[in-house]
Amino acid sequence: TALTTLFSYGLLFAFGQLRDLFRKILDLPKSKKVQGYAPICLGLEDFYTRRLYLRIQTHSSNTTKCLNLGSYNYLGFAAADEYCTPRVIESLKQYSPGTCSVRVDGGTTKLHTELEELVARFVGKPAAILFGMGYVTNSAIIPALMGKGGLIISDSLNHNSIVNGARGSGATVRVFQHNAPSHLEEVLREQIAEGQPRTHRPWKKIVVIVEGIYSMEGELCKLPEIIAVCKKYKAYTYLDEAHSIGAIGKTGRGVCELLGVDPADVDIMMGTFTKSFGSCGGYIAASKEIVQYLKHTCPAHLYATSMSPPAVQQVISAIKVILGEDGSNRGAQKLAQIRDNSNFFRSELQKMGFEVLGDDDSPVMPIMLYNPAKIPPFLGNVAVVTVAFPATPLLLARARICISASHSREDLIKGLEVISKVGDLVGIKYFPVEPEKT
Ligand code: PMP
Repeated sequence: TALTTLFSYGLLFAFGQLRDLFRKILDLPKSKKVQGYAPICLGLEDFYTRRLYLRIQTHSSNTTKCLNLGSYNYLGFAAADEYCTPRVIESLKQYSPGTCSVRVDGGTTKLHTELEELVARFVGKPAAILFGMGYVTNSAIIPALMGKGGLIISDSLNHNSIVNGARGSGATVRVFQHNAPSHLEEVLREQIAEGQPRTHRPWKKIVVIVEGIYSMEGELCKLPEIIAVCKKYKAYTYLDEAHSIGAIGKTGRGVCELLGVDPADVDIMMGTFTKSFGSCGGYIAASKEIVQYLKHTCPAHLYATSMSPPAVQQVISAIKVILGEDGSNRGAQKLAQIRDNSNFFRSELQKMGFEVLGDDDSPVMPIMLYNPAKIPPFLGNVAVVTVAFPATPLLLARARICISASHSREDLIKGLEVISKVGDLVGIKYFPVEPEKT
């Protein structure tokens, strides 16, 4: 371990030197100097206001206006909204910013129960339960559902909250190759004899955990194929829809709707309110029995303060807009817009010759840089999230773009122009497309 760590640090140091050399060769102006590889390492406070334009503080304390292509504000609800914002303000007057109480004591307001019913109806499951944080939803629910004698089979690129939840559960954890149903089947076949009923196996329970859209890949889960394998081997399915719920599907109902999967075929649906709904918190939607079980046993429900009422109201209002229950068709327009924006941006990047990961309709699109030394020029006047080692393997650095329904065509064209220039500067247009001869 010590040798590997030393080797990794050595390599990172070498890359740091390379990066500086790069900057010298490219004669990049001093103001582009960045500290480390952290995503948008300057001006984070402004970043989290999630406006479409950000003011990024440079090291010389000047501020620059820049286009936000980096936050998860998929439907634009994180900015003031004509339907959501007045209701959130009203809820603040009626309740308070915090309940100062756990759900089972005084921490359940009418809003909490309303949102649980609404989420269940929205995702198509019989019941739902809320949690104060998306991260905690995974890291606390997985141990509440699984324990010693259970088997968790997890996609190799699952989010850290899933990895930690699985590790902390005490269950045996196996990993299958990213989004590869055939490898999932191989792992399952190794663990159990095909066709045996759930009760006659070495495992008390088997759960397969996947994500709707993989946040560093922009890729849709091969959910129909995964479900077919799970059914064959009688394993439960756990789907994290953090990036897909609200953002994809004709009516915003996520990856099930987009890929024609019946929500009844997914045992546990997990999601967060921090992306498409512009709020915070997370949920589990499942059968009445599972939700009831969690309400009685899950420490994160029994011992953690409940979601802030205004945050709950924000999600209720956003879902109502998505469902058209605000009396307008803004929800449908937003959904059409995010799809249109995403497909436009992705295809323009591809035409320019960038290597863009992910699938059509996905608002998440990583541009492959490979070499982390190519990150610094990306920290110019569009805000994108740049990711490198240790968040990715050493030579799989990338710049990740998140598209919003609130981006105008002018915003997107401006973003494309900047990214194109950066692409030329650092040579990452790996697949230039020849213009068609007329
Ligand atoms: N699951 C996935 C797939 C995520 O990407 C994230 C965070 N981006 C989370 C869970 C945690 O959610 P939150 O940020 O709402 O706590």
